[in-house]
Amino acid sequence: MNFMQNLASTSLSATPASIQPLMRVEQLCKRYNQQDALAVNQVSFSLQPGDILALLGPSGCGKTTTLRMLAGFEHPESGQIFLHGKDVTELPPQDRKIGIVFQDYALFPHMTLLGNVTFAMRHVPKAEQQKKALEWLDLVGLAAYSKRHPHELSGGQQQRVALARTLAAEPELVLLDEPFSNLDAALRESTRKEMRALFKKAGTSVILVTHDQAEALTFADKVGVMQQGRLIQLDTPQRVYHHPATAFVAKFLGHTNLLQGMAEGSLAQTPLGTINLSGNFEGAVNLSLRPEDLTLTASDDPAAAKVVDREFRGHDYLYVLEQDGAQYCAITPSHHYFEVGSYVAIQSARHASILPDSNH
Ligand code: ATP
Repeated sequence: MNFMQNLASTSLSATPASIQPLMRVEQLCKRYNQQDALAVNQVSFSLQPGDILALLGPSGCGKTTTLRMLAGFEHPESGQIFLHGKDVTELPPQDRKIGIVFQDYALFPHMTLLGNVTFAMRHVPKAEQQKKALEWLDLVGLAAYSKRHPHELSGGQQQRVALARTLAAEPELVLLDEPFSNLDAALRESTRKEMRALFKKAGTSVILVTHDQAEALTFADKVGVMQQGRLIQLDTPQRVYHHPATAFVAKFLGHTNLLQGMAEGSLAQTPLGTINLSGNFEGAVNLSLRPEDLTLTASDDPAAAKVVDREFRGHDYLYVLEQDGAQYCAITPSHHYFEVGSYVAIQSARHASILPDSNH
C-alpha cells in the first residue's frame, strides 16, 4: 500500500462491515443552475447510530446544501441516501424520520413553549402530549418556562426549545445547521456542551453543519472537512487536526506551518532543521507543523529566528517569527515571553504531519 492509499483508507470511518450504518450517502451531487459548478460534488460517507458528525468548511463549500438533501428539502442531481440500508433519496422530508434545527430556530412566535413542543408530537395520543412535552422541556432545563412565548427567552433558551421540539418528534437523526451561531461566546460554549450531553444521553445521531473549527472539534465524534463541494477528509477530531489529509485541511483547522522537506525514513531535513515525521517517507515531502508543537528559546545568534509579531491570547502567546526570509508561527504558554525584535531558536517538540498534496 502506498502512502496515498494508506491515507485514504484511514480517512474513512473504520467500522466493521457487519454494523449497519444509520445513514449512508453515496456520491451525492447537486448543481443549482446548469451553468454553475457543482455545489456538492460526489459526497459519500456513512454515519453509525449514536454518532455525532460535523460537516466543516468555509462559506459556500456546500455544507447546507448537503444537509438539505439529507433532510429531503433539496433533490440531488445524482447519488443516493440510505437510512438503515433503505434508499430514501426520493422520499419527502416528513417520511424520513429526520429532525432539523434551523439556524434561526424557526419557533412559532404566537405559541407558548408547550405549544411549540406539542406541535411536533402528532404521533403521541392527545391525552399524553402535554405530559410528554413537559418532559422534553425538562430535559432541556426549561419546564418552568412552559407557559412563556419564544420572545420572552434568551437566544440560548430559544435554541434549547427548538431542540426540545425537534427531539419531541423522536427522530432517529437530528440535523443542525449552524445552531450556535446566534449565541455569544460564553453561551455558545455552554449550550454546545449541554446539547452534546443531551444527544449522547438520548443516543440520538446528529449531523451538524458549521464553519467554526473549534465547534466541530469539540462537539463531534467525526469531522468531515468540505472544500468546494467535496468532502476532503472524514475522521476523528484528533486525526483531522493532527493528521490533515491536505494543506487546506491543515490550515482550516487552525494555525499551521507548511514546510517542504527531504525525508529519509522517519526524519526530514527542513528549513527548521531535522524534524521527526508522523510516518516513514522517502524524498521530497510537504509537511504541516502545528505552532504549539514548536518550542522557542532565547538566542543571541542573528541567524536564528527574529520575533516579528506577538499576540497575547490569555492562556498563550501567538508569535510570528522570521528566519531566512520565511515566516513561521509558534504558540507558547503565556509565561514564555519574548520581545518583538529579539531572536529565538525554533525547535520542533513533536513530529510533523506528512501532507500528500503539494498545494501549498
Ligand atoms: P455557508 O456556510 O455560507 O452557509 P455552505 O457551505 O452551507 O455556506 P451552501 O449554502 O451549501 O454552502 O452553498 C453551496 C454553493 O451553492 C454556493 O456556491 C452557493 O452560492 C450555492 N447555492 C446555495 N443555495 C443556492 C440556491 N438556492 N440557488 C443557487 N445557488 C445556491
